[in-house]
Amino acid sequence: MNPQATITDEAFQAYLLQIRALAEGPFEEMQPEIEVSNRFPQRFYDLARDNDLYRFYLPAEYGGWGLSELEILRVQEEFSRGPGGMRMHLHHAADMNWRILDDYGCPALKARYMDKFQDKSIYCNFAITEQTGGTGADIHTTAVKDADGNYVLNGEKWLISHTDCSDFTYVIAATDPDSDKDSRLSAFFVPTDAPGFELVPMPHMMGCRGAGHAGLRFDNVVLSPEHLLGEEGQGMEIAMHSLSVSRVHIAASNLGMAQRMLEISLARAEDRVTFGKPIASRQMIKREIAEMQTYVHALRTLVHDFARDFDDDPHGADIEEKAAIAKLFSIYTTRIVSDAMLEIFGGDGYFEDNPYGPVERLYRDARAMWLEEGAPNVQRITIARACQQRKGELSYRY
Ligand SMILES: Cc1cc2nc3c(=O)[nH]c(=O)nc-3n(C[C@H](O)[C@H](O)[C@H](O)COP(=O)(O)OP(=O)(O)OC[C@H]3O[C@@H](n4cnc5c(N)ncnc54)[C@H](O)[C@@H]3O)c2cc1C
Repeated sequence: MNPQATITDEAFQAYLLQIRALAEGPFEEMQPEIEVSNRFPQRFYDLARDNDLYRFYLPAEYGGWGLSELEILRVQEEFSRGPGGMRMHLHHAADMNWRILDDYGCPALKARYMDKFQDKSIYCNFAITEQTGGTGADIHTTAVKDADGNYVLNGEKWLISHTDCSDFTYVIAATDPDSDKDSRLSAFFVPTDAPGFELVPMPHMMGCRGAGHAGLRFDNVVLSPEHLLGEEGQGMEIAMHSLSVSRVHIAASNLGMAQRMLEISLARAEDRVTFGKPIASRQMIKREIAEMQTYVHALRTLVHDFARDFDDDPHGADIEEKAAIAKLFSIYTTRIVSDAMLEIFGGDGYFEDNPYGPVERLYRDARAMWLEEGAPNVQRITIARACQQRKGELSYRY
């Protein structure tokens, strides 16, 4: 356990089991209704709060448990066994939601808000993606200074998660729109009830239902200078650093989901008998099982290797590259494991109400991971850039 942690190792181990039971029990029971309504009921937020899911990851000074990143990612793995939309909400809660303000907020904002995350008195989504721009340096939303020194925000964002439960949005916008350098961007802490801030409805998604997706529109939203995060021109750096940590939370999400897919596939393979024998005894099925386990185990080692580096130095030289590697490999893992799961379940895997687990929904939920915190090509670009710069060197703790 982290020496700064306020709970014992024994209590932490019990907490991991508690969260697994919650994800596969009460959270699963709520999901059929959410698949249709695309909204979480109040009971979900209440259960999350009662089970410390808005608290466990915070430093002790903000009411949290002072866990290491490794311990936080272990909890993430457990709740990711449940419905994808809830995983998305809790994953964001545990990471960018509070971390961006803590890392880059001015002292006045931090004093006002940092102790309000522990019971979800505030929740902050993150918005970089645009319909008219991209997800990186090529965004078009602007924040231009007026005569009083305030920033005036204009533009749009698209595909933004958690818009139905957020009090603030971390917005990346261009403060130097005509420049072609990364320093054209800045980051802002924007109240969602500011005049000129509007939500634009989006269609239902393939999976991960309930996570409150919408577009954002900014029409002359006025922000006082204290709403600037970090320095002017630091927006790209803030987005990239924050996303890189979040990428490992996506990798841990894929890990929890893949572990559950593996377990329910094993159960089905033992029970399903064809030609007088359980399919688990067939060599072709054993091959699928071996592949699943190999990818799951390799992913776990990547996630934990990153976490140990991060706990040593959150801004270490390898953090972005290792985060991108973990996220990319987690996509390969999910692809292999979810395909093998469908193969093992046969036709029953394509239908809802499966007694072994939500096979068809897990398959759909998993597909969001391809895109969250950057598509696979974005991870490849990050990895190749660092790899080429450092001639293939990458630290490893022997
Ligand atoms: C469920 C879900 C939740 C999301 N939540 C949020 C959120 O909360 N906040 C937020 O800001 N965004 C969010 N997003 C957006 C997400 O980050 C983007 O969808 C993702 O980064 C891909 O960007 P894009 O959709 O604009 O694809 P595009 O940029 O249109 O890319 C399409 C394809 O082209 C490839 N491509 C693009 N440019 C290049 C290039 N230069 N070189 C090589 N290949 C390239 C991409 O890798 C991708 O495969 C969410 C998306 C989903 C699906």
